[in-house]
Amino acid sequence: MPSPRPADTGSNNIYDLIVVGSGPAGQKAAICAAKLRKKVAVIERKRTIGGVCVHTGTIPSKTFREAILYLSGLRQRTFYGRGYALKETISMQDLIFRSDAVMAREIEVIKAQLRRNRVTVYEGNARFLDAHTMEVASDDGLTMLRGHNFVIACGTRPAHDAEIPIDGKRIFDSDQVHDLEELPRELIVVGAGIIGLEYASMFAALGVKVTLLDQRPTLLDFVDREIVESLLFQLRQLGTVFRLGEKVVSVGFDQERDRVFAKLESGKTVHGAALLYAVGRQANSDQLNLEAIGLVPDGRGKLIVDENFQTAIPHVYAAGDVIGFPALASTSMEQGRLASCHIFGVPGNIPPNLIPYGVYTIPEISMVGATEEQLTRDRVPYEIGIARYAELAKGQMLGDDQGFLKLIFDPSSLKLLGVHIIGDRAAEIVHIGQAVIALGGTIEYFRDTVFNYPTLAEAFKVAALDGLNKL
Ligand SMILES: Cc1cc2nc3c(=O)[nH]c(=O)nc-3n(C[C@H](O)[C@H](O)[C@H](O)COP(=O)(O)OP(=O)(O)OC[C@H]3O[C@@H](n4cnc5c(N)ncnc54)[C@H](O)[C@@H]3O)c2cc1C
Repeated sequence: MPSPRPADTGSNNIYDLIVVGSGPAGQKAAICAAKLRKKVAVIERKRTIGGVCVHTGTIPSKTFREAILYLSGLRQRTFYGRGYALKETISMQDLIFRSDAVMAREIEVIKAQLRRNRVTVYEGNARFLDAHTMEVASDDGLTMLRGHNFVIACGTRPAHDAEIPIDGKRIFDSDQVHDLEELPRELIVVGAGIIGLEYASMFAALGVKVTLLDQRPTLLDFVDREIVESLLFQLRQLGTVFRLGEKVVSVGFDQERDRVFAKLESGKTVHGAALLYAVGRQANSDQLNLEAIGLVPDGRGKLIVDENFQTAIPHVYAAGDVIGFPALASTSMEQGRLASCHIFGVPGNIPPNLIPYGVYTIPEISMVGATEEQLTRDRVPYEIGIARYAELAKGQMLGDDQGFLKLIFDPSSLKLLGVHIIGDRAAEIVHIGQAVIALGGTIEYFRDTVFNYPTLAEAFKVAALDGLNKL
């Protein structure tokens, strides 16, 4: 335990805003307040800033994916045959080398942004002492900070189960993927949420024999069903085995056979060389001494906020993964910024139907706006238009003959209601549809607009023509 240092009651340690956590939500909350000329401190308990996003989540996993796509030559196989690979034997070191490089640069960018905006960063573990005082415990001792306002952006960690013997080597969670020394030959993935699916598809693309287990009978409930079917088909093509609607009752390591196993409630046992446990995340709010300010989180530690990200205590806000769904880096940044805007009286909001979702499986999925399922449930009439990547010159050049883009629109007004894409660069091109929905546009915009050729963006035009032909 660090030795207590007397509380500094001087004005130096009094801030307009104290932010707990330096992930996307914390960074943007801090920078927004600093731009409003407020005195801001960020407290981060890890030695380096950036949060889960930079260290174990978004950045490493997406760089890992890029490295896999490049080295495995997966997309090129349409032309050069199933056996094609840029590098014959791909090691964990090949993949980690690239993520480490990107992470290092990303950390420098964030540090420079905070420094430029004169945000003071404290390294240490933050906890409330009272409604306006926070204690920061580091190797150097204790520091007391006083804040007029707080943004809690402490994020989450992988949820663990006492029955799952995670050792970080053969049985590991998503934070530990990048510490693996070698690629397993077979991998069991428990949990088919976004993280489980993304890693399952990445390992499958590397030729690892993947078995995916989930107690839910269907995948990605918020995603268009046709897209989910296409994902399942393409993952099966990569050799992935799905065991859905199957509850895992125990996981262990069989010393004799040198294999891990997962026992299912149905009586089956699945064996593999390694197991990734990706069942949910637990909020870090339990380490903040919230009792001192009378704030009560829910069972998984999530904090309840209103539309302005304000908790039940008016000068304490929360943003990012600690407030739950959608728990994305993209939305966390915006929530952090909006929390600061509200604290300091600047208006702003996130239009709920305009959040784009990106699922970086191989193949990639992205969507914005309504799904067919939602509209059917709400009895809203709609028509669809589809463009298949195989019909696009660019799709053929890239070797993606499975991708497609679906537009959902109102058949009377022709207003665009939703865009759903599976295939290369889905998460990039979805923003074209997002802009048109935001501006209340119709699919005639795509019909009447010249797109660069050849591009995947051209899919919007092809899908619009397909939709208009149906009317
Ligand atoms: C494997 C994986 C892949 C992902 N991929 C994507 C993706 O492709 N796209 C996307 O948009 N999102 C993705 N996400 C989600 C994204 O990483 C999170 O939504 C985002 O990081 C949340 O940001 P945050 O600021 O809320 O918290 P975090 O990034 O979790 O940061 C919280 C910070 O608070 C610090 N902290 C916690 N408690 C304390 C304390 N008491 N004192 C001081 N510091 C504290 C932590 O050390 C941490 O650095 C992914 C997540 C994972 C796990």
